[in-house]
Amino acid sequence: MKITRRQLLKTVSFSALVAGIAPRVAFSAPNSLRSIRTGVQAGGKTRLVVETANRPSYTLSYGDKQLIVNLSNTTGKADVQTKLANGTLIKRVTQIQDGTTLKISATLSGLIDAIEKNQIMILEPNGDNDYRLVIDFSSGTGRGITTSATTTATAKTVKTETTTKPTTKTTKSHIIVIDAGHGGKDPGCIGKGGTQEKTVVLSVAKKLKKKLDTDGYKTYLTRSSDVYLKLGERAEFAEKKHADLFISLHANANPSRDMKGFSIYTLSEKASDEEAQKLADSENAADKIDVDGFEQFSKDIRVALSALQQRAVAELSEEYANGCAKSMNKASIEQQKGPSVRHAPFAVLRSTVPGALIELGHLSNKNEEKLLKSDAHQNKLVDAIAKSVNSYDFDV
Ligand SMILES: [Zn+2]
Repeated sequence: MKITRRQLLKTVSFSALVAGIAPRVAFSAPNSLRSIRTGVQAGGKTRLVVETANRPSYTLSYGDKQLIVNLSNTTGKADVQTKLANGTLIKRVTQIQDGTTLKISATLSGLIDAIEKNQIMILEPNGDNDYRLVIDFSSGTGRGITTSATTTATAKTVKTETTTKPTTKTTKSHIIVIDAGHGGKDPGCIGKGGTQEKTVVLSVAKKLKKKLDTDGYKTYLTRSSDVYLKLGERAEFAEKKHADLFISLHANANPSRDMKGFSIYTLSEKASDEEAQKLADSENAADKIDVDGFEQFSKDIRVALSALQQRAVAELSEEYANGCAKSMNKASIEQQKGPSVRHAPFAVLRSTVPGALIELGHLSNKNEEKLLKSDAHQNKLVDAIAKSVNSYDFDV
């Protein structure tokens, strides 16, 4: 069974555990083990918590009925007894001191699913707790998985760097929600030749779905016809589908007919530049038509998401967006002048699902309007986006 980010967020006890988020500078001061405990989380997943005096620097490896957490520069403590909860997949935990590395080896009762990035967190000290490395996982069919992950020795809280060497690739399909912007009574922007944004992005969305389905993903479209959807409904849809990635497709318009090229946006409360803010205002204006329901959803999400988790989602989104920009550049798709990835408070991106909003090009530019209408160019865009999804690192 797969544990989703959404389920994680719904766990009250978890939210209560999460403390402040002040970034800490990585240091190599000797670390020491404080406690080890296990627990059962919502959805039946097993949680392993390793508490240390300082921020842990770790690698993780797991395979046949075993999960090993390697804590670098850490000293074990013989009198630390693992508090084993009932009903978890962990039968036994042992400490092995290997030079300066402390290996926490958990013997599992069965095979587990691949552990994804969002299933590992480092929690800051709070109350009676010191730093906690929290790993959630579930039983699965992980035959032959040999995965290892290394944390970056930076201030990043949740981000991990992967060195995955699977002997057998896991067949678990990741869930991607593709959102064709606008629709129905909201045409989006309209080119001089009459091309409507809602039509272009729906066509690209359908092609992208087809491609990603072929690539083995489980994909959903927020809309598959010319209907109007509120922005909150789109974000909520991604939540409900437990999506791993959310891609919102749009096309741009600018008073300057010379302006051209794609641009990619991730969510931030503060826009990275004035242009990004203006764009977010105009994209968000779609909801001015019918704003009911979104405010509450948005509030719920903000309450559910701790600052730490918001940052984790932001980091994953940024990673995807950068990869997507690279992929578009590689495909020689014209990029709008300026940074390839910008940030602005887009309502549609306000969820617990990492993702990005892609402005595919400018309908206000005569040449690009022509291109955006053409099958050939749409396919080129789809290929580039699909490649960015394929190179996005879903697992730890
Ligand atoms: Zn739009």
